[in-house]
Amino acid sequence: MKIISLAQYDPAIAQALNNELGRIEYTLDLIASENYTSVHVMQTTGSVMTNKYAEGYPNRRYYGGCEFVDTAEILAQERLLKLFKLDPERYHANVQPHSGAQANMAAYFAILQPGDAILGMDLAAGGHLTHGYKINYSGVFYKPFNYTVDKNTECLDYGKIRELAQEHKPKLIIAGASAYSRIIDFKPFKKIADEVGAKLLIDMAHIAGLIAAEQHPAPFEYADIVTSTTHKTLRGPRGGIIICKKEYAAAIDKAVMPGIQGGPLMHHIAAKAVAFKEALDDSFVAYQKQVIQNAQTMANAFATKGYRVVSGGTDNHLMIIDLRSKGLTGKVAETVLMQAGITLNKNCIPFDPEKPMITSGIRIGTPAITTRGFKEQEAKEVVDLIDKALSNYENQTELEAISIAVKDLCTKFPVYPELK
Ligand SMILES: *Cc1c(COP(=O)(O)O)cnc(C)c1O
Repeated sequence: MKIISLAQYDPAIAQALNNELGRIEYTLDLIASENYTSVHVMQTTGSVMTNKYAEGYPNRRYYGGCEFVDTAEILAQERLLKLFKLDPERYHANVQPHSGAQANMAAYFAILQPGDAILGMDLAAGGHLTHGYKINYSGVFYKPFNYTVDKNTECLDYGKIRELAQEHKPKLIIAGASAYSRIIDFKPFKKIADEVGAKLLIDMAHIAGLIAAEQHPAPFEYADIVTSTTHKTLRGPRGGIIICKKEYAAAIDKAVMPGIQGGPLMHHIAAKAVAFKEALDDSFVAYQKQVIQNAQTMANAFATKGYRVVSGGTDNHLMIIDLRSKGLTGKVAETVLMQAGITLNKNCIPFDPEKPMITSGIRIGTPAITTRGFKEQEAKEVVDLIDKALSNYENQTELEAISIAVKDLCTKFPVYPELK
């Protein structure tokens, strides 16, 4: 990295970059939607392909000079289908969405008319903004209805989803979540969609890496369209992707460009190709298994210490911890843990009595700590550190001491030794 010359040209930004590297190295990232890409992925996002205008698709662009970006985009598409073991005769990949939100927007634009009813998971129960939240485009341009989780099990209730679908007759049902720790069973979603004549979109943004490694059931045989981010468990650059049955290929491509985007980010598309190559390696399966083992280890450790784990545990890379037994809100916990060098986010628990800016819970994910090499023993240590911080939440000296313990633990597991 030519960080030296940048330091001379723009010391303020160079300093911010360096500080960010320090933050990554010396604090714990438990944000369930974050991960650390490889240096190869970062090198590619910082590459010459940032310059190229390439509106259109490989071999049919509106600009000249696209032969090399075409190579990158074709490789990204091929590797993406290979990663999910999909037959290119039956499935189509669009790797151009700038983000997960854009992938969803394009998918809706491809198959819905403004005002159509959609049925997605309630944000407050673990859904995503783009699944029909009232002030998101998805809730403004379309007519949103929400399903939630069962009050007792805190798991999806497919019978209830079916009732809602029959009542509201949505044109599209959306499965997928941002804060749900259990396996999502796509089969009943497909059955419900067929019963009411709806299309099914499965948004695997959070669990795409687990699915690639066959650690979560795959959505492809059930969904009309599958969307995802590339930067969560999939561990690629920031971005979005769409995979659809061949019959939707033309509509999806048209919806992405010219429908909702202009020029694709070719440096990001090239970096997606690199990330998919990494995900095709056997080591990626071992990584995803460890992600889940670490999450389950942490959930058990929290329960042992008297915390309530929403739904009683986790099947994936994340968990929601209900802090009410400790007399704390999510907001306080987030702030306190920040001071202890532990980054995570406050999160609603299902049917949360607190407001969304306060919350009764925190969301904890293991993708990033597992990338830096943590196994069960370190996962337990992290729970000890969190518990210690929350038990001493008004004690600045103790929080300072914990942040030093966090730094010591992190030092043993560097994220980017190459960048030192
Ligand atoms: C993160 C997420 C998205 C949006 O991704 P962005 O890249 O932040 O736009 C969409 N859907 C789900 C379920 C997500 O968790």
